Amino acid sequence: VSEKAFADGNRIHVFVRLRPMSKKEKEAGSRCCVRIVNRRDVYLTEFANEHDYLRLKRLRGRHFTFDASFSDSTTQPEVYSTTTSELVEAVLQGRNGSVFCYGATGAGKTYTMLGTVENPGVMVLAIKDLFTKIRQRSCDGNHVVHLSYLEVYNETVRDLLSPGRPLVLREDKQGIVAAGITQYRAYSTDEVMALLQRGNQNRTTEPTRVNETSSRSHAILQVVVEYKVRDASMNIVNKVGKLSLIDLAGSERALATDQRTVRSIEGANINRSLLALSSCINALVEGKKHIPYRNSKLTQLLKDSLGGACNTVMIANISPCNISFGETQNTLHWADRAKEI
Ligand code: ADP
Ligand code: MG
Repeated sequence: VSEKAFADGNRIHVFVRLRPMSKKEKEAGSRCCVRIVNRRDVYLTEFANEHDYLRLKRLRGRHFTFDASFSDSTTQPEVYSTTTSELVEAVLQGRNGSVFCYGATGAGKTYTMLGTVENPGVMVLAIKDLFTKIRQRSCDGNHVVHLSYLEVYNETVRDLLSPGRPLVLREDKQGIVAAGITQYRAYSTDEVMALLQRGNQNRTTEPTRVNETSSRSHAILQVVVEYKVRDASMNIVNKVGKLSLIDLAGSERALATDQRTVRSIEGANINRSLLALSSCINALVEGKKHIPYRNSKLTQLLKDSLGGACNTVMIANISPCNISFGETQNTLHWADRAKEI
């Protein structure tokens, strides 16, 4: 799937991942309301065990097709290689790219991005693959890899690798950067999982639930690769590629597919950065000249990694449970819309 999917220009590539039902949900008698067929089609149905595909297809507004759709038995390496490995290759050629996980709280975003020690997710697998590819390419230490891991919470930017005062965004020759952010020089993969796990623990929690990451926290891992090449006249030039991997805030109630909804939600002050991302994506979908990157911290930080000549990947995470039917439908509608970019 992936090679073909990335060969066709600059549109956003959209994937869906269904998480398995937990033991607790099964015990509570939850029913599954999502069915994935042929690794592409997603059916949202009260009759997930329905085998009559014609009947399934008649469920208007409940049938979606994506670049790939991952069933609940898909492994982390499969998700990584289909969605992100091409972007890692592009970063090694000096291009920027970004991968977003979005969906309601509990739908599997952090599992997909970070994963566990036994089943590392996209962030860890991307860095591992990056080092493998660099090693295959050269042994002259030409490539330098830096990692930054930051959080946007309530329009405040914080360094997850070195928590402290909020960071200020500045524009410099590399684009918009968080002034003073830790740029961790990474030499191998071994250190990275522990580093990211610790960083993830530094994410903001709600005072009432101190062990749970706030559903309004966005985590952004930026992997910057610098290397030198000789140009046509044999001068040495610096090249830089940047990969941004984003574990978005929970999208419940905040995914708007049109500007009117964006404005009505804005009044409710739910999550400025998520709404701004929606607006940027809508503007890109509509082919607008002006993309409102300046409306939030998240979109400012991602200005050079969204749209244009960048590779952008969306992974929509969904829960199989019938009680999440409404959220799942919203997530799928939004993902369907993002496809049009
Ligand atoms: P989110 O970050 O979207 O709020 P999480 O990633 O924390 O959701 O997932 C919620 C729970 O479901 C966690 O306990 C997580 O380990 C589990 N989970 C999510 N996706 C998967 C998956 N693909 N396979 C196994 N467990 C998963
Ligand atoms: Mg999470």
